[in-house]
Formats: sequence, structure tokens, C-alpha cells
Amino acid sequence: MKQVRTVERILTAYATVEGAGVRLHRAFGYYEVPQFDPFLMLDDFRAQRPEDYLGGFPWHPHRGIETVTYMLEGTIEHGDSIGNKGNITAGDVQWMTAGSGVIHQEMPKPVNGRMGGFQLWVNLPKAQKMMMPRYQEIRSANIPTVTTRQGVSIRVISGTVKGVSGPVRNIIADPLFLDISLGPDGFFTHPIRDDHTAFAYIIGGEGTFDAEEGHRVHNRDLVLFSHGSSIWVRSFGKGMRFLLVAGKPIGEPVAWRGPIVMNTREELRRAFHEFEAGTFLDNDG
Ligand code: FE
Repeated sequence: MKQVRTVERILTAYATVEGAGVRLHRAFGYYEVPQFDPFLMLDDFRAQRPEDYLGGFPWHPHRGIETVTYMLEGTIEHGDSIGNKGNITAGDVQWMTAGSGVIHQEMPKPVNGRMGGFQLWVNLPKAQKMMMPRYQEIRSANIPTVTTRQGVSIRVISGTVKGVSGPVRNIIADPLFLDISLGPDGFFTHPIRDDHTAFAYIIGGEGTFDAEEGHRVHNRDLVLFSHGSSIWVRSFGKGMRFLLVAGKPIGEPVAWRGPIVMNTREELRRAFHEFEAGTFLDNDG
């Protein structure tokens, strides 16, 4: 089927509070399951005022999912309970596969007064929910940028653009994760596998993904695409910047409570029981 994907739904990220009082914007989450399968949640924590984020995300567990942190400005100090430690700084990505269990904290800090980024949650299939935890931590300098003749600039985090592959690899969802900047009156089209779920999250400027109606989208709008073999986008005015994300749906039951996402309520109960009992991390191997 050679067909350009149409716009199935447009959502606008809404203000919410997470962690220790972090004010952020959520593009989609719990209430949208299973529309974005394999993706569970997208949070936008770009913020102006330090008091809106300095509380951060103190110690909490994850199981059954991957969390993907992509920073535009500032830094997140990351540490986990088995001693991994590091900073995710502007332009970096951390693709964390929590698998059987990670207990970590994520603390945003400003750099030159600025802090902002995104966190995407990717579900894991039943067969991989209890896999060994692992990290792919990629520095900004190791993320390639592809530029088209039309002046479109694409940071390739995962997936392939014009023969250039992103550094995040061997992820179960076979994801595409691109940060795309279109100049004034720019145009871009990109193939996406028919059977993959795809969305775009606008992070600046104005444009349209809708060849028919030309419905305009702006900062913090999210476009969920119908099925098809490619996406099409045009920018207006000064241009547009957006994240383009796609991945293979899982199609399994979702049992979700807080930072843990399993297939059944019994598995959730066990996970929280293990966390309370201090045996949460004993499932490796
Ligand atoms: Fe976390």
C-alpha cells in the first residue's frame, strides 16, 4: 500500500504535575491507551521557572517499560540504585530499558538558566518485560544530522534517514525517533512502515501534516497518524520543529500503575509488593 498517512487525531499537551511537584505538559498517557501502542506516554518538561522543576523525580521504580529522555537544554542528573550515574545534557538521549526493574532518580538542573526536554515511555512485550535492564546513553555529538536540499535538518536518534542510521539500536519496538527542523515554507516526506504507529509532536513554529485540509499545528500539539507508508509535512512562516516517532505495536493487554506497566493486575501487585519488600531488583538473570 503506497499511501501518505492522514491525520487521525490532534491532541494538545495539557499541564500536569509529576514527581516531586514538577510542572510539565503531557501530550498523551494513561487515558490514551491503546491508541499509541507501543508508546505509553510523552511528557514535555520544557520549563522557564526553576521552582517548577527543581523538585525533580526522586527515587522511584520502573518495570516492564523503556523510558527515553531527550534533552534540549539544561541537564538531568541521573542515578540508579545499582550505582549507574550520569548527566543527560542538551542534545543527549538516554534510552533506558527498565525491563525487570530499575530504581532511579532523575533531577533536572538548569544550565545558563535554561532547562527542557522530553520523556517518552515505550512499552515492552510480555516476552521482554522481565529482561535485564540496560541503558543506551548517547551524547549529542554522536547523534548524526542529515540535511536535505530543501534545507530540512534531521537529527537521527533512532531509525534511518537517507542511509544514515541513528545510534540507538536493537530496540524491540524497532523505533524511528527523529528531531526535525523545517525552514520557512519547508517540505519533508519520510517513509514509515505501514504497520507501525506514528506520531509527531510539535516543539516550535507552525505547519501542517494534512495535505487535504491544511489544518495548522503549533508548539505542544501532537499529531497521531493513520496507517500508510509515509508522512508528509509542510511548514509555514519561520518554519517548524517537531519530533517524529514511530514503532511496532505490541497488541497485548496493558496493566499500568504509576511507573510500572505489566500485562496483568496480578503482575502489578507482585511488582509493588516486591518494591515494598525490598526484593524488586532480585529478578535479574
Ligand atoms: Fe523514571
